[in-house]
Amino acid sequence: MNFPTSAAFIAHSEKILAIESLTVSFDGFKAVDNLSMSIDEKELRVIIGPNGAGKTTLLDMICGKTKPTSGSIRFRNVELTRLPDFQIVREGVGRKFQTPSIYEDLTVGENLEISLPQAHGVWASILFKRTRQVKERISGIAEQIMLADHLQTKSGRLSHGQKQWLEIGMLLVQDPDLLLLDEPVAGMSPREREQTAELLKKIALGKSLVVIEHDMDFVKSIANKVTVLHQGRMLSEGSIDQVQNDPRVIEVYLGH
Ligand code: ADP
Ligand code: MG
Repeated sequence: MNFPTSAAFIAHSEKILAIESLTVSFDGFKAVDNLSMSIDEKELRVIIGPNGAGKTTLLDMICGKTKPTSGSIRFRNVELTRLPDFQIVREGVGRKFQTPSIYEDLTVGENLEISLPQAHGVWASILFKRTRQVKERISGIAEQIMLADHLQTKSGRLSHGQKQWLEIGMLLVQDPDLLLLDEPVAGMSPREREQTAELLKKIALGKSLVVIEHDMDFVKSIANKVTVLHQGRMLSEGSIDQVQNDPRVIEVYLGH
């Protein structure tokens, strides 16, 4: 039995993710080095840090793409480091990679349908699950991701930003409790960034999100709590103002 720390008294919200002493080393190089952090239920956390800080590698370990050398990642009561990636998805963790991975030859609606958890293969699922309930769910998500008017549009014809939204929609179809998004507004127009900020804030009303982002205006528009990584370690954590005024953060971003 652990005694609660003082932090546990202050933070009344429950943790959805608890990372403890997480390390991964690639041929002796520690891309993530003894990292401990946690995410609350329905929290929208932003992770920032210079290139090579270990941000993507951290998401890779949470979703099971990379196995850590040591340490623990607990999702509610489940130890994720022991599970294969498909099982981690089933537990309720959804991951969006930096480049969109949608089926460009399929319509927006079809892309959403094939992401349904029951789907077993592209065509089988399209022919299989067309109940009213499924259709309503798909159109609800299309509306949420601002693509309601594009359900019949071939995905290859969407703008880069719309493709990113579609991929977020494909995650939402699986109804994960934790979403991991790696640089979701990269390549988006200023207007699309604003819309994405609104989208993520709405998603966070019902789910936890971890968002890696470089664009500081975007970070400010969504951030509640920010974690700054540097050389695989936590450099700073707190509100956007706290981390921006942290001398260690200023040194890393401006000092070299
Ligand atoms: P970030 O996303 O913060 O820019 P990454 O997590 O992609 O950083 O990378 C962190 C460091 O780990 C980089 O120096 C990168 O070259 C290294 N790295 C990441 N994946 C591997 C790998 N599979 N093998 C060797 N080195 C890797
Ligand atoms: Mg990265």
